[in-house]
Amino acid sequence: MGEGLQDFSLDCFSLKGKTAIITGGNTGLGQAYTIALAKAGANVFVVTHGTNWDDTKVFLHNMKGKAEFFQADLSDREQLQKVVPACVDAFSTVDILVNNAGTIRRNSLLEFKDEDWDDVITLNLDAVYFLSQAAAKVMVEKGSGKIINIASMLSFQGGKSIPPYTASKHAVAGLTKSFANELAEHGIQVNAIAPGYFATKNTAPIRSDEKRNAEILSRIPAGYWADPSDLMGTVVYLASKASDYMNGHILAVDGGWLAR
Ligand code: NAD
Repeated sequence: MGEGLQDFSLDCFSLKGKTAIITGGNTGLGQAYTIALAKAGANVFVVTHGTNWDDTKVFLHNMKGKAEFFQADLSDREQLQKVVPACVDAFSTVDILVNNAGTIRRNSLLEFKDEDWDDVITLNLDAVYFLSQAAAKVMVEKGSGKIINIASMLSFQGGKSIPPYTASKHAVAGLTKSFANELAEHGIQVNAIAPGYFATKNTAPIRSDEKRNAEILSRIPAGYWADPSDLMGTVVYLASKASDYMNGHILAVDGGWLAR
């Protein structure tokens, strides 16, 4: 008793020597996760379906972080299955997986198109499952690892005009708990971040709708749309030794939204 108290140091937040895969890590919230993990010392393997990387490369170059960029459409199972082996080729391992890539389609329930349902579920849910399973196989061999899923306020609430998004984010919360239960005995923790309302491309349409924007702002106790940098400390915490006893948790970073 007491040894842990004596030995505690802020080094437990360091990711030096670790390797992280971040999907959709070139823009929006994913870019903030990538830069945060690199700043904490991790090698970063950024996966996107396009090659719009310049912005992120500049940040990482200025920090002299070790970074690789990999193009894959995660809605395509064959392309998805190349991600973990490519990261292992580049950095010999995977210690951290951030399942951030996601999409949203908006329409009234009665008008909702079948292909929009399929597109959202394939990326937001299927890709999270298959990529986590592939990364877990590498992590189990090492006896350690961190999987961080990106949930949402729509993991807790129903929302409106976004049925597949709500279904996918509820399912991401379920997968987080299910993977956590199975992988705990292998020294792997699986948690999720549930961001509240952040100013990114994804939320541009609702921010530009004056009525909707005012409605949302009036319900956020903090009173403002968050900046992607508001998530940087959270992702480092969940990726690091500091969170080793947290498992299967959905961590809201929401300016108090859920507390209302
Ligand atoms: P964004 O639209 O700005 O970025 C999405 C990222 O996903 C991009 O990097 C894009 O390249 C990548 N991507 C899209 N389709 C892909 C595909 N088929 N294959 C590979 N990569 C693909 O979105 P964002 O707002 O930064 O959201 C990131 C995540 O956070 C999503 O899972 C989203 O649901 C979640 N989220 C966002 C908010 C918010 O307020 N912005 C709130 C809660 C949850």
